[in-house]
Amino acid sequence: MRGKADSDLVRRQNRRVVLETLRFHGPSPRVELGRFTGLSPATITSITMQLIQDGAVIELDDVAGTVDSAKRGRPTVLLGLKPDAAFMIAVKISIGMIEFALADFTGEIRERAQLSIATFDMQPEIFARRLIAETKHFITSTNIEPALIAQINVAVQGVADNRLGKIAWSPAFKARGISIVSPLEEAFNIPCTLANDANMIAEGLIAQKMVKLSGTTAAVFMGYGIGMGLVIDGAVYQGSTGAAAEFGHMNYVPGGALCRCGRAGCLEAYASDYGILRSAEKLPDDTSPPSHPVNAQVMFALEAAARAGDKDAIAAFQKAGRAIGFGLARMIALLNPDRIVLAGAGTRALDLIEPSLRAAIEEGVVAELRANLKIETLPVGKDMIIGGTIDAGMRRLDSEVYAIGPALQTEVKKELLV
Ligand SMILES: [Zn+2]
Repeated sequence: MRGKADSDLVRRQNRRVVLETLRFHGPSPRVELGRFTGLSPATITSITMQLIQDGAVIELDDVAGTVDSAKRGRPTVLLGLKPDAAFMIAVKISIGMIEFALADFTGEIRERAQLSIATFDMQPEIFARRLIAETKHFITSTNIEPALIAQINVAVQGVADNRLGKIAWSPAFKARGISIVSPLEEAFNIPCTLANDANMIAEGLIAQKMVKLSGTTAAVFMGYGIGMGLVIDGAVYQGSTGAAAEFGHMNYVPGGALCRCGRAGCLEAYASDYGILRSAEKLPDDTSPPSHPVNAQVMFALEAAARAGDKDAIAAFQKAGRAIGFGLARMIALLNPDRIVLAGAGTRALDLIEPSLRAAIEEGVVAELRANLKIETLPVGKDMIIGGTIDAGMRRLDSEVYAIGPALQTEVKKELLV
């Protein structure tokens, strides 16, 4: 049986590589797939035939002429992922807000919805019931056959325990230990996952091949909170429970400004939107953070005021940059990363934040430790959390469902029954 098991493993690996290649490069002719993957023409023919039979891949005429086919006088056949092979739902939970996105098998978002909901005072069971009801409502609104939805993947602000499928702690809730995965799986009978929101930004960077296979990249989320997703040697570093790199809740000033987590002096208490606003309004450091999201218009106005020369607004953004910069300096000393990628709505004010952020890094860590470091910013318009949640979900579908294929899945089930 060993030979059979080995060849199944190879087949599974080849199927996964072909799916990943189509996901990254988009529709491609067979010859290009061979070039990208290094697989032989015979293997590509066989694997793509199976994937077409299984309904994961379709043949498309290259009508747009993306491949030079003029010489042959007929359109080249491209292979692409079949958009309606499967769908997934990405859910983002943050303070006072739930967002939904329906993505097809190519990863394209077909529908989106968001609702304001006063999460902070909700009890765990009540929230889980509401989440199920709102997810059902969203599915109904999309007109997609519910049986075609293969999974639901949730990203949350705060500490997501990915072993237990629970929100261990989140600034979005007063309650702790909110069970998410079990209630969703019971209600929808499909696989569901839960992860930290900044970790999903990191997953997106991996899927877009924006990180190297070796090396360390830190994705920093700036906005309603401060978060981090840490990519080490091509994978998101999870820690023991999925809570690693809780950058925003590293202590910055012992006994300092009050944070949404209830502690005093966290980095987030100075650098998140509510922290910046509190500084700009010159409120005392022990002023309670709001239990609702800061209105985007309020932050737009604050940024405009700073750019127009308002001293208090300027000082608040500088203070935020300094907090993030010193936090990054500590992280640099600890991990010697090669890239830091800044993302989230907070980067809209980067012109106001960056000088003090860079100065704090220079002040906080010796030059030799940051010699190879690059700091980049992702575009503000794209929701990297929803995007990364979809990327991670699709990778799971590729490797755990479509790489195996229906025939092999039946065999695996039979083996499990014996
Ligand atoms: Zn905190």
